[in-house]
Amino acid sequence: MKDNTRVNHPPPVELPPGNHALVAPIYQSVKFEFDSLEETERYLRGERPGFFYSRASNPTTRQLELLLAQLQGREDCLVTASGAAAVSQALLALTKQGDHVICFVETYNPSRYFIRRLLARFGVTHTLLSIEDLPGVERALARQHARLVFFESPTNPVTRVADIAQLARLAHAAGALLVMDNTFAGFHQHGGFDVDVFVHSLTKYASGAGDVMGGAVIGRAELIRGMRTDFGVLGGTLDPHAAFLILRGMKTYFVRYRTQAATALRVAQFLEGHAAVERVHYPGLPSHPQHALAMRQMQEAGTIVSFDLKGGEAAGRRFADALQLFALTASLGSTESLILTPQLMGNRDLNPEERAVSAITPGTIRLSIGLEDPQDLLADISQGLEAAAGSGGG
Ligand SMILES: *Cc1c(COP(=O)(O)O)cnc(C)c1O
Repeated sequence: MKDNTRVNHPPPVELPPGNHALVAPIYQSVKFEFDSLEETERYLRGERPGFFYSRASNPTTRQLELLLAQLQGREDCLVTASGAAAVSQALLALTKQGDHVICFVETYNPSRYFIRRLLARFGVTHTLLSIEDLPGVERALARQHARLVFFESPTNPVTRVADIAQLARLAHAAGALLVMDNTFAGFHQHGGFDVDVFVHSLTKYASGAGDVMGGAVIGRAELIRGMRTDFGVLGGTLDPHAAFLILRGMKTYFVRYRTQAATALRVAQFLEGHAAVERVHYPGLPSHPQHALAMRQMQEAGTIVSFDLKGGEAAGRRFADALQLFALTASLGSTESLILTPQLMGNRDLNPEERAVSAITPGTIRLSIGLEDPQDLLADISQGLEAAAGSGGG
């Protein structure tokens, strides 16, 4: 073998039998080979297990899929290159021309855009309601057969809580699938409800570090099997290195989520007692309109705390600029705390009525609580609120 051949066929190193790595290796390989053409054909006919091409499946991404399916209490999972890819590929795989979809004003913007603009181009119609309008859901399902109901809980940014059991009852009575974006609640919550398909952004709590993007679609085996070929062709596959980073993040998922949720509750309590604050939106507060429902459905009320400043937009601008520990940017679930103002929440596609339903006011602030010390966060928020009220000397 000449050296220019050798560099393309380096010596293989395999672990001897009885010797294991504690952390599974990253299978950073696009292709996998069988020992013969016949075995390759058997694999392609589905007669033997294995891996062939990483756009379809890869051992590292598969390990992440199996872990997430188990956490969410379902049989199978498909991971994708981003949360948006999980939403769009799942909805594309589940619908066809002529289908009808029920969706909600209180929904992550790109998902709403996907349903209202992109699916519409392919002849899929929709009804847009408020997540609190269960009678509206029932009427819409009675008026027209729906393929699926797509929702989130708690919702972004004002943390409305969907009644999942009621939505499941209504959807299933009408022969529709219930599809839930469970990103805010995480992988350990809501699995006991009769949700057909969960979608997640892995960019948030799964990685936790804010340095990698990913998405997941989780459901019973038959539904996931039906989507697998479509996903391979749509091509928004998660890279094995990203899957490895997300698997590493998952080891600290529970410690992070629970610590961040406990701090979020303290922040919400602090805000509720502050003179500059009109109202606080956090499902863990007894003052939240759906607190009882949230406590029935969730073990942790999440790490997003929203509130309305009495001083409106001007106060919100002063508050956002005064904060030192909160980064002014999108996303959530990372170890560092973040802040969003209405200018960055992007609800421009909504008409005035729908904007009223979205409950985003000029003084609405969304905080994503990280892993910093709670006392440092409260001190920062406190000085920010003084600046917002205009009493901070500036
Ligand atoms: C972030 C987010 C998404 C999209 O996830 P990406 O990984 O950013 O593509 C979808 N749904 C919700 C609720 C989100 O917060």
